[in-house]
Amino acid sequence: MARPVPLRIVLLKPSKYGVDGYVERFRWGFMPNSTLSYLKSLTPAAVDGAPCEVATVDEYVHTDLAYLAQLAHTPGKRTLLALVAVQSHQLHRALDLAALALSRGVENVVLGGPHPMTCDTTALHGRGVSFALAEAEVIWPAILRDAVEGELLPTYGEDGRWQARLDPPPLLPPSRRDLRRYAVPMLGVYPARGCPYTCNFCSVIKIAGRAMRSQPVATTIATLKAAVAAGVRLVMFTSDNFNKYPEVSALLTAMIEEGIRLPFFVQCDTQIVRQEELVALLARAGCFQMFVGVESFSREALHAAHKLQNHPEQYARIVELCRAHGITSHFSNILGFPTDTEAAIREHAATLAALGPDVASFYILTPIPGTEQYEDFLTRGLITEANLDRFDATAVTWRHPHLAPDRLVELLYRCYREFYTGRQVLARLAAYARGRRDFRTVAGLLGIGGYAVQSRLAAARRTHPMAGGTARVCRDRAADYLPLRRRRFGFDLAPLPRNLALTTADQEINRHAKLPVATTA
Ligand code: SF4
Repeated sequence: MARPVPLRIVLLKPSKYGVDGYVERFRWGFMPNSTLSYLKSLTPAAVDGAPCEVATVDEYVHTDLAYLAQLAHTPGKRTLLALVAVQSHQLHRALDLAALALSRGVENVVLGGPHPMTCDTTALHGRGVSFALAEAEVIWPAILRDAVEGELLPTYGEDGRWQARLDPPPLLPPSRRDLRRYAVPMLGVYPARGCPYTCNFCSVIKIAGRAMRSQPVATTIATLKAAVAAGVRLVMFTSDNFNKYPEVSALLTAMIEEGIRLPFFVQCDTQIVRQEELVALLARAGCFQMFVGVESFSREALHAAHKLQNHPEQYARIVELCRAHGITSHFSNILGFPTDTEAAIREHAATLAALGPDVASFYILTPIPGTEQYEDFLTRGLITEANLDRFDATAVTWRHPHLAPDRLVELLYRCYREFYTGRQVLARLAAYARGRRDFRTVAGLLGIGGYAVQSRLAAARRTHPMAGGTARVCRDRAADYLPLRRRRFGFDLAPLPRNLALTTADQEINRHAKLPVATTA
């Protein structure tokens, strides 16, 4: 019997094209892409007798182009290129990498992530690239089997994007060599998925659903222990709504009991204001920063966006609660809601400064493909941007009723400049340093100071501080790949997609979402 042909798997997180057309690459990234580690953890040593070898590439932090040599046929092996975690603003880059690999004889290419899970990709099918429409656990085994046999299906996961129960293996952390590509040796860990709320601009509920699904606590603990042993020094829990995660107390208690002294960052909704016990437990377990999507101080704007659970009069209390427990508060703000005016945004910035969270980030309201807001704006003819590269929350992509695009972009950078004045940053650092000292303190100070420096530098250059890393390096650009894109896909720009409807199975999972009655008013 013939020996199975070994499978070489290249897991690649594509970057995106910047406004100047260059691929965004950075000398130091902010955080290793957790989907790469996750898929590597899900990959067995062999499939149907064929040995599997896995390479991972986070394109954001590869400042030389040597890794592109991996996108080629290898004699004596089959190659599978998996383009992972592809968001709409990364689609062109992912398609270009797919076209490059196919032109060099790579046998199998699959593209997965938020874009194919939430948007209709039919127009791209049948051109040599397979599309993953579901979470990795649902379809990765079938993709690997088909790659070993030699041919992928056009799509995987059409029956439903989510699995009801999560039971993945512990995450394999990045190597020390890979960790050195990042400003801080940090790892993203995803113990629970989904959010019960219904914000119309939110892609999370389309990508992960509205029912909270969580992996066993023991799996997360094993992941954290492996991370510590691998040299990870900070963790970001990437679950979008940590305070709605049903086993949150069990996980935090286990972290304390197991002595895992790893400072971590969480994202919570504004209802954390009623959960002081949880804030105290978060602090004891090592939380150094809490990210909260406050978005706006206008109840009218929040109401129109279906973010009814946010009550601006409670925001000050969230800052106080965090401060009382040695956690830095990070408020995320959206500029350019339909009711916003220039005066309203200036007032927002002043109100925020007076509240004084330790960290703030600002984004331009972007109808992200796949969201309810995107479908609504598309149907109403409000979308003005034809290039998906620009749908990254730093550019204006739709016709705002009151604000010209240039003005809104200017206001974005102005908010950064005004929030991060030298005097205010020093005052925040001093206030934090005066508080209690424990194993989170250095992370907390770095969180305040590092983000402030990055924000000032980025605003001065008119780039977004959360673009993916620091010290940008320009190497190759979209124009270098355009002939391949045209030949393979027949266009310069992918057509703006329609949203992909949820299947009956996904709707059934969503029906298990538990929305706290008290927070809907
Ligand atoms: S609370 Fe956050 S994660 Fe949940 S739906 Fe709203 S924006 Fe999305």
